[in-house]
Amino acid sequence: MTNNKFHYQCTNCGTQYSESQVTYLCQVCSESNSTELPPKGVLKTNYNYQKLIDEGITFSKLVQSKFLELLPINSLDSLPNLKIGDTPLYSIDKIDNSKLPFNLMLKDDSQNPTYSFKDRASSVVSAYAKEKGWDDIVTASTGNAGSSLAGICAAQGQKAIILVPESAPSAKLTQILMYGAKIIPVKGTYDDAFDLSIEATNEFGWYNRNTAFNPLTIEGKKTVAFELFEQLNFDIPDRVFVPVGDGVIISGVYKGFEDLLKLQIIKNMPIIVGVQAEKSNNLIRNINNSGFEIVKSATIADSISVDIPRNFYMAQKYIQDYKGEYVSVTDEEIQESSQILSKNTGLFAEPAAAAAFAGMLAYKNTNKLPDNSNNVVLLTGSGLKDLKSVSGFLNVPDSILPTIENMKKLLS
Ligand SMILES: [Zn+2]
Repeated sequence: MTNNKFHYQCTNCGTQYSESQVTYLCQVCSESNSTELPPKGVLKTNYNYQKLIDEGITFSKLVQSKFLELLPINSLDSLPNLKIGDTPLYSIDKIDNSKLPFNLMLKDDSQNPTYSFKDRASSVVSAYAKEKGWDDIVTASTGNAGSSLAGICAAQGQKAIILVPESAPSAKLTQILMYGAKIIPVKGTYDDAFDLSIEATNEFGWYNRNTAFNPLTIEGKKTVAFELFEQLNFDIPDRVFVPVGDGVIISGVYKGFEDLLKLQIIKNMPIIVGVQAEKSNNLIRNINNSGFEIVKSATIADSISVDIPRNFYMAQKYIQDYKGEYVSVTDEEIQESSQILSKNTGLFAEPAAAAAFAGMLAYKNTNKLPDNSNNVVLLTGSGLKDLKSVSGFLNVPDSILPTIENMKKLLS
């Protein structure tokens, strides 16, 4: 079935394409792409906003239809029969017993079926593939997107093929295998896996889920913005702290709010704060540069450890157009924040999510968050997915013979 409700627009040259004309990148801009620079030609999905306004769209109507008007699929029945999104937004009023002068809310996306934010994207890509008759979906992944696609495909009766760099954390690899996906470990980086997955897409005719290649991952990721608006009683937050690797999640958050702006449901864009690990900050370091300089990434936050931010140009444009902010945090800050977050809230987040929390703490410690402002930190995945990154600073005490005296010693 042809779907006429949206069209694509190239981030770089602005050319518009109908859905039947293109599946992945802008044909013109992607021709000159190399493996040394962020790819050009990533597409944005636009809907017929004016038509929706003329038809009297409201946010309540969108909630009722589960946002189908703003999704690239024809039927909600194409989505997996799992609870995706609708994740909790927790209010936190103090940290380390000190009351916060601002409102802090944590969006816990580890509550998705495969324990990460990526399920939002995988479910939409999978549903689209189902409507188009693709049974095999391939992706390159540092772990979360792969384990997510594997789980979603298991639920949908589709076949997932996952290319991972050999350094991917074992919990994520375990998930991929348990969901029955085909796993292909690649000697090399995420970027090497990415390139091979595209070759495989052309060779075998599979559908490709790669972020910043398949335009529809952003359409899944944007749903978090709709939920925030709903959970804040039809209001936008002042700031949203988002972990940034290749720039797709931050673009997804922007896209969701931008859809609402274009539908005149909201009047302003919240300030989105992109948080990168200092040892993997190729996106924010290059935002105002005319060229692009790559520094090899080496952070413990594997989900946001990226040499070439694949969605650089779209993220850059969003941040510039909507006056976004950005900050980088050290690995030490990420580890420390991970503990502060866990101890204060009961939420054990993966390092990438802890990075976003660390970004918020950096703002807090420099008094950049106004009193009574509403601030959201996007927690993108569960800490159980990467135990190694925190094991270095955790000590399990030596075991004791089971007497109360020994126990007293240990407690003292
Ligand atoms: Zn183009």
